[in-house]
Amino acid sequence: MIDTTTSREVDAVVIGAGTAGVHAAKALAEIGLRVVVLERRAEAQGGGAHWCNAVLAKHFDLAGLPIPEAPEVRARGGASLLFSPSGAYCTRVDENPMWECDMRLLGKRLREGAEANGAEVVYGVDRLDFRFEGERPVAVCFRAGGAFHRLGARLFVDASGMKGVLRSQIPSLRRACPPVAPEDVCAAHQMIFRVRDVDGAKRYLEAHGARPGDAINELGIEGGYSIRVVRMEHGLEEVSVLTGSIPHGGHKTGRQILRDFVSRTSWVGEPVFGGGAAIPLRRIYDRLTAPGVALVGDAACQVMPGHGSGIGFGLIAGRVLADAVKGAADPGDPEVLFRYQSRYLRRHGAVFAGYDAVRKMSVRLGTEGIEKLFAAGLFSTSLAAPSLHQELGTLAPAEALVHARALAEDPELAWVVAPALAVMGAAPLVYRAYPRELDPAALRAWRLAAGALLAKQAEVKLAA
Ligand SMILES: Cc1cc2nc3c(=O)[nH]c(=O)nc-3n(C[C@H](O)[C@H](O)[C@H](O)COP(=O)(O)OP(=O)(O)OC[C@H]3O[C@@H](n4cnc5c(N)ncnc54)[C@H](O)[C@@H]3O)c2cc1C
Repeated sequence: MIDTTTSREVDAVVIGAGTAGVHAAKALAEIGLRVVVLERRAEAQGGGAHWCNAVLAKHFDLAGLPIPEAPEVRARGGASLLFSPSGAYCTRVDENPMWECDMRLLGKRLREGAEANGAEVVYGVDRLDFRFEGERPVAVCFRAGGAFHRLGARLFVDASGMKGVLRSQIPSLRRACPPVAPEDVCAAHQMIFRVRDVDGAKRYLEAHGARPGDAINELGIEGGYSIRVVRMEHGLEEVSVLTGSIPHGGHKTGRQILRDFVSRTSWVGEPVFGGGAAIPLRRIYDRLTAPGVALVGDAACQVMPGHGSGIGFGLIAGRVLADAVKGAADPGDPEVLFRYQSRYLRRHGAVFAGYDAVRKMSVRLGTEGIEKLFAAGLFSTSLAAPSLHQELGTLAPAEALVHARALAEDPELAWVVAPALAVMGAAPLVYRAYPRELDPAALRAWRLAAGALLAKQAEVKLAA
């Protein structure tokens, strides 16, 4: 038991000052709630990501945020070139919709926005100790600035990232939102480096048929789900390198892939900034709320599993949450919070489910299977472009026929690819049927149906 030296009541407490948490705080403060954000890191370090992430402009719009500009945006436009593991095949998407943004500057902008609306951010917090009435949290005690404090609130937003510090303490959420399994975790790293030798950098671009600003994506380099993305900035002074993999099963981590690349690439100079972390890749949880609790961002697995993109979907969550609780006498009321859960899952759930199936497919295919996918013409621009837009795509009938023929010629490939395509097709129907109102029986029925329709893909790997 912690002795408190201060105690006060607010409307909402947000745990975690990453992009999802701070934006949720801003959105809740905008509708008139008294909000406090608790962040365990020191203020100088800041919360959340501190590297560069690729984000869609439309996601800022959906989150109710102004679209970022330079210097927050470091690179936009250009092509996205997607190479097979051997480099023999390349799929090109001409207009890359993903803008590379400096998360340190986005974080600062979000924090300033939250504070301008009256939200308070407390850094260097530890010894969080939640108090419950039944399952519902009603207060949190913590240490900050050398003193102990207590905050009572009607709404607690868990934005603490993948581990979900509050989520994991609530029995009903623990059951519905199990910890992310190691086989569903991507280890990613991203760094900005100085370019030491411009001619060497130009030769690298030339070898890949790329120009400054283009994203050179090398897929399947360390297991089926792995990537190295090199994006040279226009002035050729700096280069961004992003790497990621699923280390479960013995693959190198994103950090190791990045180190290997840098050690054998002489034109890459000293690091400027960057970092790394784990990304949850499993399908979004079926429940995002409990009485007095809402999950946002990585804590809710609001990450597009196809390429581990969680910024945009985490920002959107704050907006949807604030719209749902606006005007409610009790923002933690289960029926009020269910509006957030239902609206978010009905609108975005299918993308998470569809691309989770694609992600599992790529793991099963492995490096050689990914190569086969390219060789068979199945990794087409029509399939790659929607993934960059973080939408589910559809194929025109003529192209669908070409893909079907390619699969028919390689039954082994079809065995792995077809179930993923089936889930992609079923996911929009499944999430359109997500209950609109809080009704435990309807939710149970939905989960049963979703479990069957988004069934586990066959546990098969392609033979070498
Ligand atoms: C290298 C890399 C590259 C990526 N690239 C992209 C990309 O290109 N595009 C994209 O959209 N996404 C990308 N992602 C994913 C994206 O960064 C995450 O999805 C996003 O940062 C999650 O935001 P969040 O606010 O939910 O959680 P986090 O950023 O994890 O923030 C959680 C915060 O909670 C705090 N916290 C944790 N526990 C406690 C506690 N007990 N008490 C108080 N505070 C606590 C943490 O310190 C942290 O500040 C990438 C991730 C990595 C690692």
